[in-house]
Parts: sequence; C-alpha cells; structure tokens
Amino acid sequence: MKSFKSLLIFQFSVLILGMFLFLLFSTFFTYKLASDYEKKHVEEISSILAENINLIAEIYPNKYLIEESMKKAVDEIPALEGSCFLLNEKVYCYPSNLKKEFKCTSGERFLQEGDKIFISFPIYEEYASQFLERKEEGCFLAVFNSYYIDQFRNYWFLNALLISLSFVILGAVVIISIWLDIKFDFNKLKEFIDKLKKTDAVLVKPEKNDVYSFKVKEFRDVATLVSELIEQISRLNDYIKQLAVKDPLTGLFNRNYFNLVIKGNYLSLWKRKAFPMSIALLDIDNFKSINDIYGHAKGDEVLRRFGSIVKETLRGSDIPIRYGGEEILIIFPSSKKEEAVEAVERIRSKLVKEDFGIGRPVTFSSGLSDFPSDVKVPGDIDKLIELADERLYRAKREGKNRDVLF
Ligand code: GH3
Ligand code: MG
Ligand code: MG
Repeated sequence: MKSFKSLLIFQFSVLILGMFLFLLFSTFFTYKLASDYEKKHVEEISSILAENINLIAEIYPNKYLIEESMKKAVDEIPALEGSCFLLNEKVYCYPSNLKKEFKCTSGERFLQEGDKIFISFPIYEEYASQFLERKEEGCFLAVFNSYYIDQFRNYWFLNALLISLSFVILGAVVIISIWLDIKFDFNKLKEFIDKLKKTDAVLVKPEKNDVYSFKVKEFRDVATLVSELIEQISRLNDYIKQLAVKDPLTGLFNRNYFNLVIKGNYLSLWKRKAFPMSIALLDIDNFKSINDIYGHAKGDEVLRRFGSIVKETLRGSDIPIRYGGEEILIIFPSSKKEEAVEAVERIRSKLVKEDFGIGRPVTFSSGLSDFPSDVKVPGDIDKLIELADERLYRAKREGKNRDVLF
C-alpha cells in the first residue's frame, strides 16, 4: 500500500512539473512566434508600400505624388510612423521632418532603436515598371512605432497565457478527479475487505453493485476477481456441505446425516415431544445380479432412478436416507406404519413401471416398524431399525417384492 501511495505522489509531481514546463514552453514559444510573425508582417507592409511608391516614381516621378502616397500609407497603417524613399540620389520622406540618414544596402535590414523599428531594403528590379526603360535602383525605409507592435505582441502573449492557463486548469481538474476517484476506490476497497473479514462473509457472494461501484477500472478488475473467487469458494462450500450430508448418486441423505442430524437433534426432539413415528427399510431385490449381468453402470442407473422415485413420492416432512449400498431408510415423522406403507407401495408401483432394459422389472422388499406400537420408549431408533431389518429379511425369505409390518 505504501509503495502504491508513493507511486501516486511521484506521478502527481511529474504531472504538475509537466504542466509547469508546458506553460513555460508554450508562453516562450508563443512570444517568439508573435515577434517572428510581427516582423514578417511589418516587412510585408513595407514591401507593398515600396512597390507602390516605386511604381509612381517610375511612371511619373513627381515629389507631390510620392509624398501623397506615403501619407496615405502612414494614415492607413497605425503602426507605420513614416517612410523614406531614395531614388536617383533624391530622398523623399514622409513626414518631411523625418530626417533619417540611410544608405542603400544590398539586402534587407531590420533595426530597432528605442521605440522605433526601421526596415530598409533596396527596391529591386522586379518592382520597376515594365514599360519604362529606366531601371535605376533605389532604396526604401519604413519606420514603425514599436508601441503598436508591442501592443500586438502583448495581446498575443495574453491570449497564449490564457489558453495555457486553461490547459493547466483542465489538467488540474482531471488530476484532481482521478485523485478523488482513487481515494473513493481506496475507501470502497477498505469496506470490501472489512466485509470479507467477517467470518461468514466467505459464504455470502458480494453484490454485483458492490463491484460496479468501483470507479477506476483496475480497482473494479481486482474487485471482480475477488468476487469471482468468493463465488467459487461459496460454490465449493455448498458442494462440500452437500457431500457431507447428501449421497451424490441418489441425491438422498447419507449415513453422515443419519448419525449427525437424526441421532442428534432429531432424536432429542422426538424424545421430548413423543410424537408417533414409523420407519421403513427398503432393499432392492436381486440387485447383485443386475451388476453382474449388465455391469456396475447399469446398477448405478437403477439406484439413481430408485432414489429420485423415492424423493418425488414422499412428502416434504419424510426423510429418505441411503442407509447401505442399495438399502434406503425412510423416516416418517408423525405417521403409523399403516400410513407409511401406503407411501412405500406408491414407490413400489412406480419402480416396477420403469424399464431399465434388463428384461424384468426392478422390485424391492421392505420392513416397517413404528412407535408406539413396536417400541414403547420414544427416541429408541436403534430398536426400530433392528425390527425393520428383521422384517426386511423376512420379506426376502418369504419371496421378496413385499412389505412386512409385523
Ligand atoms: P437380495 O434380493 O437378497 O437383496 O439380493 P441382492 O443381490 O440385492 O443383495 P446383496 O446385498 O447381496 O447385493 C447388494 C449389491 O449392491 C452388492 C453391491 O455390489 C451392490 N452395490 C452396493 N452399492 C452399490 C452402488 O453404489 N452401485 C452399484 N452399482 N452397486 C452397488
Ligand atoms: Mg442389500
Ligand atoms: Mg438387495
């Protein structure tokens, strides 16, 4: 748990640092981009201006016209403070007091002095008029006020800052919500574990909702895994419980049930309440020969069916137990043996109707006994079974497929 927490803190710090670096980088980059863009923009304005003025100079080099054109440009472009134009060694400037000493250079020059930005460049041949022969070169100077440019740059910078800040805020919101989700899941996990710590919780499968209330997928996966394991354990538990008291072949109770439940709680209840009770011991006739002739699997099939007929015929309060290999003991609470034998007969008539493919019907013999007519003391189950067993063997001796009650 400790290492997971430190991992989270580490990731959180990396994210915050990342955000900070992102903010720094994007601000710097935007500022640089803004100045580059502005430089290009200013150069563009200058060259358009130069082309325009050069054209006038080529067609009709009239001082008034040139200066008018310069004035118009300065009026229309707020950032432009003025410009000078050198042609045939004559300098035209607007405003005229803009006395700037400048020389023609071979390439463009970008210069910043105080709050002024100077751009000078030669007027190349491509600007010259096509229908005039003169191709003298001149040069051009544009003077910009850096205040406007700074204003533009600051505006861009502020915008960039705002966008970056919104990214950082968005990132922070995402991080905080992830953090809260993880915290929520840790609490859920604690509840989940507390629930499981209760001794009997293993038998109770966690609700599906419990698992789906985890917000982060990894936590949900762990919870699902735990819940599946618990489901498997509880299924196994059920199976073990069944194995302990139920016979897997016939689905009836087994000798464990008889020893633990009947001889335990049930007997003490019978002793206290002294209610009438009868038992029947059923044993399949000539069962060994089915095994011998048709195999053990056929014997099992007969036993399985015998068990289900017994179960479906009896009332819910009657207790059928697989007492021996092919012997079934049935306990009929609150019944005399005359009543119990009717249930036994119903089982008999159902069993003989079954066709197991062995060329004969399957029958059984039974011996019955009850309290109070056979034993005088309630709770004496051993005596009841002894009597029923004797009567069962008498039924066998007397020709099988019958019930003996006395
Ligand atoms: P009887 O009419 O006198 O009762 O003759 P029987 O052949 O039924 O009597 P016996 O007690 O000699 O035979 C019972 C046989 O049941 C012996 C045993 O191999 C078989 N048996 C016991 N449990 C199982 C089982 O779970 N499956 C199968 N297929 N046979 C079993
Ligand atoms: Mg037997
Ligand atoms: Mg038998």
